[in-house]
Amino acid sequence: MRIVVLVKQVPKDINVSLNPDFTVNRENIQKITNPADLSALALATDVKKRYGGEIICMTMGPSSAVSCLREAAICGANELYHICDPAFAGSDTFVTALVLSTAIRLTGGADLILCGRHAIDGETGQVGPEISVMLDISCITHITSITEVSSGILLCHRFVGYETQLFSVNMPALVTVCDFFVAPVLPSIEVMRNASSLPINILTAKDLDLVGINGRESSPTRVERVFIKERDKRKVAFFEIDEGVEKIIKNLHPGTNNNER
Ligand code: FAD
Repeated sequence: MRIVVLVKQVPKDINVSLNPDFTVNRENIQKITNPADLSALALATDVKKRYGGEIICMTMGPSSAVSCLREAAICGANELYHICDPAFAGSDTFVTALVLSTAIRLTGGADLILCGRHAIDGETGQVGPEISVMLDISCITHITSITEVSSGILLCHRFVGYETQLFSVNMPALVTVCDFFVAPVLPSIEVMRNASSLPINILTAKDLDLVGINGRESSPTRVERVFIKERDKRKVAFFEIDEGVEKIIKNLHPGTNNNER
């Protein structure tokens, strides 16, 4: 089974500055692997342990994103791909999904694709579902566990609101994984020892046959403005309960007094 896990490097701190085009300024900030992607990796490792297979880990990002792939190797990934091309800078979710889905297809496809339910910087949660559409495969979002994989069918739990749903889905499938529900991977000494020597395959626009795709120009969405919304300032007044009830009734039925009701 080919299990592809998508990981994104994100800022560690939420106090980031934005570039003039409203992309996140990623220079000189501490970066981490997106928390939900670590959950996706942990689920992938668990599935591999129970059913066998290979974990292929991919990221699209600047050269610093290599650290996410090294972390993935420590968690048990078998193949690493770094999609790194200045042409893809400033991509919106559509172009990000286009590049990642092309890379998945050209590197051998997948029986199961795991990604985070959202990245903590962009926060759209669109990339996973968009990839599933581009690859024409099933998609389930907000997964907390995978209970069974058999005869091309995946059984998984999905958390929505206050309830958990049990879904079965035909493979190949893409699932987006919730952060904080899945226990982190405890790597073995052997995996850790091999992690630093696992080669990282670099893919460019040319390798993906996507020359002509430009992150900024090919993206159909633009962030026009980023601002903190002023909330309406509401006046709050405190009353004893009887007085409060009287005022509410008066407001509901202006012109009447309490005794008439
Ligand atoms: P999500 O869809 O939240 O990510 C879900 C999962 O997809 C991740 O957990 C990860 O597993 C995978 N994934 C996502 N990106 C990568 C990657 N580069 N490599 C590997 N795996 C990945 N774009 C829009 O299209 N619409 C917007 O409204 C929009 N608003 C933005 C607002 C701000 C303030 C900023 C800074 C950016 C905005 N963007 C928007 C751009 C968006 O951040 C990028 O498109 C980003 O690369 C992907 O979107 P996301 O972070 O929301 O990912």
